[in-house]
Amino acid sequence: MAIHTWSPPYFDLIFDVLNGCQGQCRGCGVTKSGQSIPTEAEFSKIISNIHALKEDSGFILDHLEVGPTDFTTAVNTKELLASPGFAELSRQFNILYFTTTLTGAGNRDDYQAWAKTLRDLFGRKKIYFYLVIEPTKIDNPELMAEILARVEIFKNTLELPTRFEPVLNSQPNSAKKDNSLLREILNITAEMVKSFESRPWHAISSSRKDDLTAHSALILKDIHWLNSIFNHWVYDRVDCDPHFQYGNELKPTNKAFAWRSGSWYWPPVLYGHFVNYDERFKLPGELTARAIDEFEAKSLVSQYAVAERQEDCASCDHLSQCAQQGILQLAQALETRECIAPRRAFDGYRLRGRGMRANP
Ligand code: SF4
Repeated sequence: MAIHTWSPPYFDLIFDVLNGCQGQCRGCGVTKSGQSIPTEAEFSKIISNIHALKEDSGFILDHLEVGPTDFTTAVNTKELLASPGFAELSRQFNILYFTTTLTGAGNRDDYQAWAKTLRDLFGRKKIYFYLVIEPTKIDNPELMAEILARVEIFKNTLELPTRFEPVLNSQPNSAKKDNSLLREILNITAEMVKSFESRPWHAISSSRKDDLTAHSALILKDIHWLNSIFNHWVYDRVDCDPHFQYGNELKPTNKAFAWRSGSWYWPPVLYGHFVNYDERFKLPGELTARAIDEFEAKSLVSQYAVAERQEDCASCDHLSQCAQQGILQLAQALETRECIAPRRAFDGYRLRGRGMRANP
């Protein structure tokens, strides 16, 4: 007899409200301006929407990811942290995430001050960080030592155990000199594990655009680069497990929406949540369980029509999975008829009977 288990759905909020950054990191595609902090009236609405998802639909409010720029150098971080609405919103979620490079102007005292501010504001809440690093900086021992010293400052100041998850801006044009992709990824992964005791995420951030078609050449270049690595890896490097993502580490099985400047955006899932601000992925109106269901149902149906126009999708074994993850809708927005998923890797998982991992 089959035993069915039910696990409650998780909801993550990608909260793109910060503007400005001192960094000029190669491989960064983040939109540094155009975000706005909600007014207190907007905060009330967001909190009430989120609260209804929890109370009426049983969602567990898991990650609140504040981005997209470095919180220590964004020009409006202090305004955000002073907002009563933000304090209330952060209380709703299990884990608060910030992004940083820890390389902005300032000395260790400045970073100590940031750590104390977060500790005093958020008390016993779990606070985690995405620590974004350019691959080229890993060869600079002084810089890496300073970054690690700043990590220690946060760890020693925040009262709960915290995590710094290394994220490498990985793009074809941010590759190191010899550009031997697999060796590069393997070497960088090994170096990062030594420094952080955790594998890095290889991140692509070119998705965060408000018109995907206008940026399709760059985005497709990144996607095909990532697919070439992943397709190869699954077959030839099964001993290794590189992690790829699009600027966040949310579980693809979690329900996630991005809030930016008064609107909600649905991220398709390709490797991770492909956060973008394109009108075609915008939720009409408020974030409610009903609006989410309607949006996703409409997206699913439309993608079976799109499949007929794609080169390989209509007869592909992975159509159902790709349609559920919004991958065909993404291909349509990027105006390509080619497969944009790591299809060979999908085949590999299926052949081995392993099923899809959380982060393919
Ligand atoms: S794996 Fe590629 S070809 Fe197959 S359905 Fe997905 S996008 Fe289409």
